[in-house]
Amino acid sequence: MTTDFRNVIVIGTGNAALSAAISATDCGANVIVLEKSPKKSFGGNSRLTTAALRIAFTDPEEVRSLLDDNFSDKAWNDIEIEKYSHKKYVEEVMNAGHGRPDRERVEWFTGQAFNIIKWLKEHGVKFDLAGYGTVNDSKDKALGKKRYPGGLVIQGRGGGHGLVTSEREYLESKNIDIHYDLNCFELIVSEMGDVRGVCARGRDGVVRHFYGAVVLGCGGFEASNARRSQFLGPEWDDIRQRCVKFNTGDMFMAAVRHGAGCRGHFTGAHITPIDCDSPYVGGLDTCEKTNRLGFPWGISVDKVGHRFINEGKFWNIQTYVDVGRALLKLYDKVAFQVFDSDGMACCEPHYKRQKTFYKGNDLCEVAVKAGIHPNAFMKTIEEYNKACAHNTKPYDPAVLDGQRTKGLCPPKTNWALPIVKPPFYVYPVVPGVTFSFGGLNSNLSCEILDNSDIPIPGLYGCGEITGGYFYYAYPTGSGLIKGAVTGREAGKNAAAYAKSI
Ligand SMILES: Cc1cc2nc3c(=O)[nH]c(=O)nc-3n(C[C@H](O)[C@H](O)[C@H](O)COP(=O)(O)OP(=O)(O)OC[C@H]3O[C@@H](n4cnc5c(N)ncnc54)[C@H](O)[C@@H]3O)c2cc1C
Repeated sequence: MTTDFRNVIVIGTGNAALSAAISATDCGANVIVLEKSPKKSFGGNSRLTTAALRIAFTDPEEVRSLLDDNFSDKAWNDIEIEKYSHKKYVEEVMNAGHGRPDRERVEWFTGQAFNIIKWLKEHGVKFDLAGYGTVNDSKDKALGKKRYPGGLVIQGRGGGHGLVTSEREYLESKNIDIHYDLNCFELIVSEMGDVRGVCARGRDGVVRHFYGAVVLGCGGFEASNARRSQFLGPEWDDIRQRCVKFNTGDMFMAAVRHGAGCRGHFTGAHITPIDCDSPYVGGLDTCEKTNRLGFPWGISVDKVGHRFINEGKFWNIQTYVDVGRALLKLYDKVAFQVFDSDGMACCEPHYKRQKTFYKGNDLCEVAVKAGIHPNAFMKTIEEYNKACAHNTKPYDPAVLDGQRTKGLCPPKTNWALPIVKPPFYVYPVVPGVTFSFGGLNSNLSCEILDNSDIPIPGLYGCGEITGGYFYYAYPTGSGLIKGAVTGREAGKNAAAYAKSI
């Protein structure tokens, strides 16, 4: 057994943990970072992201100040950025969570969003205008404009990989030790109940003891079939993962064993429709490309040929979790996205990567090849086409066009166009879990609380391991912001605690 004494031990190398390590280091603490994955796979789910970051601002010039590209005034004027208030940000998190997120936490982390990007920039992270979430429709093209309608305006350079690499480079420049291949599995707790450190097992099977204040930045439990079925329900057991395989909730369980309280949504997790050929355990380079979010441009049916959801309720980025969750309840947990040639033209380029899909000029034949019950399916198509025959405008992915079905259940309330123009396409999709919402209870100082809301001395948490922030869904770009904000706070307070004892 080997031992190591530090001020602060940070667990994980995702965005939250690395932010905590940077913050504790800046506060003068002697910090060590422990990571379960091999070095080449570091970075957690954060690494898999496009690093879309949601921030509130009152003047687009504020956004310009965050970017690393020098825009000429002319180039800048060709971009239209809608203001995005803090109030709107808070409401979007609350609405995505059906009003259930803890408002105090949400107001706090969203209020820090702009400032945390400035802080990350000071620590070497670079930012560009987002490619993701932008709207560039025919009208904009005619005006030569690129439009940003919400708070998703910036993106970490190089995506999630670029983000965590810059964070790690900052720590390396400060000679902070980062140890890989170490699975942390237990807390070291004194007789008084304060946390003194952590036990971690290496690939050699040897357990090492690390002493210091502990910051848990080790993600959710979404990669564990056992914990998903235990907390989320049996239908979440044998499904595909869009996340890294390392987030199995070991330290979440360890903290609970030592009296930590739980908070947040434990029967829901982030889940989306993905390519049916996706591996059960996500590959680092493919996870972000497996999403199949073209459902608004066609219809989705189950194996029996029935529609089961309003595919056009709102923007796909706001409804994809509802769709992913609905797939869990279907026979064989598979759905089929059906497009005609107009709908297919609106789908993201990722669709071209999918190996299993069916195409043909006879829709019934295509359905048979895909394994859908043809009679029921053709009846669905007939009813659907009849219910939207009055809609004639072409698809415009840039606007909620209000072209809806009449007298159909479930309805389609935007982009309801008949499926009539061959060739027809059928894409099988399955549910893919992204990250869990429920986690440990913590306060705004990122101390982990017990079930009486009393802080457990020496134990801090940040990012996805802490719950209460997101329920049901989250507005894209707010996960990384939550991680960095809670990480910075946890690192600062762990450093102060370590100095005080
Ligand atoms: C495909 C995909 C795309 C996404 N896109 C976006 C986006 O564009 N914008 C956005 O805001 N959010 C996005 N998200 C959500 C985002 O990834 C999370 O909100 C955020 O990354 C969570 O950060 P974290 O640091 O808490 O966890 P993670 O980044 O998952 O880091 C957890 C770390 O802990 C390590 N670890 C786990 N257990 C142990 C253990 N026992 N011992 C030691 N180490 C351990 C893991 O290996 C990992 O390094 C996306 C998620 C996925 C999966």
